[in-house]
Amino acid sequence: MADQKTIYLDHSATTSTDPDVVQAMLPWYSEYYGNPSSLYRLARESRAAIENARKKVASALGAEPEEIYFTSGGTESDNWALIGVAFANRKKGDHIITTAIEHHAILHTCKYLENLGFRVTYLPVDESGKVRIDDLSAAITDKTILVSVMFANNEIGTIQPIKEIGTICRKKGVLFHTDAVQAIGNIPIHVKEMNIDLLSLSAHKFYGPKGIGALYIRKGIRIDGYLHGGGQERKKRAGTENVPGIVGLGVAIEKAILNMDLQIPRIRKLRDYLLERILTEIPHTRLNGDRTDRLPGNINVSFEFIEGESLLLLLDNAGIAASTGSACSSGSLEPSHVLLAIGVPAETAHGSLRLTLGHDNTEEDVEYTLVEIKKAVDRLRTMSPLYADYLKKRSCDV
Ligand code: PLP
Repeated sequence: MADQKTIYLDHSATTSTDPDVVQAMLPWYSEYYGNPSSLYRLARESRAAIENARKKVASALGAEPEEIYFTSGGTESDNWALIGVAFANRKKGDHIITTAIEHHAILHTCKYLENLGFRVTYLPVDESGKVRIDDLSAAITDKTILVSVMFANNEIGTIQPIKEIGTICRKKGVLFHTDAVQAIGNIPIHVKEMNIDLLSLSAHKFYGPKGIGALYIRKGIRIDGYLHGGGQERKKRAGTENVPGIVGLGVAIEKAILNMDLQIPRIRKLRDYLLERILTEIPHTRLNGDRTDRLPGNINVSFEFIEGESLLLLLDNAGIAASTGSACSSGSLEPSHVLLAIGVPAETAHGSLRLTLGHDNTEEDVEYTLVEIKKAVDRLRTMSPLYADYLKKRSCDV
């Protein structure tokens, strides 16, 4: 069990489940357990709960309920969007465009499709992590069937010019998918106004349960079904529905949208304060990602002369949960593909720290974290031969 006193600064990895969400889910495990595909009253209750949640998700995105399909989370939604569109549009073309900084749920699916004979262009990004619109326009050919660009990056928080990208794709007749897993509850989204054809989301990133998500699929687009079996989700995604999870997703997304006006300015202010103090009070530190077009709770910094993993351990000892790179790639010693793509040298990328603030963080958390980071960085630098070399070289230079 998590320590009661943990200061949790890893909200991009996952969030705690909101107590209101848990309460809303409970009856669907016990009292109302009917299979939504059956015909009696108990089953009809489950069906009604699913359709009610579908309306909530649709309303949060500016979509129609029949454009929302429930999945097991962000990874499945991303896989379905890419594979489903690729298979259904094979006759039209074999080319997909994405970016070098996507989540592995996109990048590894693209590799899978490349093995099947599809061609994928991985667009580079600028030093702030943004796609250049001219690069995108130039990459689209008459064989391009899909563009997939994430709404906001999970590591460096950079927000992409989604509306502009959607407009270009619509004009050129190419489908546009966005992985909005990190964006929901942080950035207002309207799929119609932004010309988005497919959008992935995942409940556990916005205080909902794990293992449940959705894919928005604009009405009328060509996409193959993903899981084959029963006729659930309008014959496109087979398998008995995760009714409690779907109910939880519905409540979580409704709350996420309602909370945005209240929480986002508060979280942004805490983040800005912590970030400014880190950058001004710890020398040899750089900010990764865009300064302004950035998820409100995201800090990603690199400290020269130290290892991010060692820093994480010291912070963990101090009761602070943070991350280096993304949660999915931690445990690997490869530098983050996102940091490399924005031009951070590999040694510097190894010294990176991601802090992602959320609803439960306070001013006290931020003050305590700053003190502990400064202590930990100091301690690691005094043990670092690279830092000792640097100091020696500097003293010779003066
Ligand atoms: N896409 C992005 C941008 C993410 O940050 C994540 C999770 O970290 C995923 C996809 C995968 O989502 P899930 O954990 O629901 O499979």
